[in-house]
Amino acid sequence: MAIERTLSIIKPDGVKRNLIGKILQRFEENGLKVAAMKLVHLSKKEAEGFYAVHRERPFFESLTTMMSSSPVVVQVLEGESAIAKNREIMGATNPANASEGTIRKDFAVSIEENTVHGSDAPETAAQEIAYFFSSTELVNAS
Ligand code: ADP
Ligand code: MG
Repeated sequence: MAIERTLSIIKPDGVKRNLIGKILQRFEENGLKVAAMKLVHLSKKEAEGFYAVHRERPFFESLTTMMSSSPVVVQVLEGESAIAKNREIMGATNPANASEGTIRKDFAVSIEENTVHGSDAPETAAQEIAYFFSSTELVNAS
């Protein structure tokens, strides 16, 4: 096992419903540390750039409109196997399939408004972290 970093976003539905504290608590309780963090209101273009990998998907327009509709909290999480651990804490993309005790099971509104984003692999984590943070904005958290 190795110390990794992953990009996490509390999506507009989570910020709007005052779930920032509850969601960060899940990460902290599971041993992940915050290595960088900010509250931002993404432009439509920024949301499209972030989700560029999904640009051919039928939900791309709706997803990027939703992600730029109101502020999000973006953080880098650091810890042992942080990428997979964060995905476990988040639960499945569709809350209907998410396991008990996961963020998406407990808080997601729908498959689209599913409260959190998390990187899915080391390459995407590095790319996504660099999309939001410069190296001087990251601390060694562990
Ligand atoms: P994940 O966020 O679990 O990595 P994906 O990368 O497949 O999931 O999709 C990115 C985001 O796009 C999802 O978190 C969700 O907000 C949205 N999304 C995915 N699939 C659908 C769908 N079938 N309908 C609407 N929105 C979707
Ligand atoms: Mg994904």
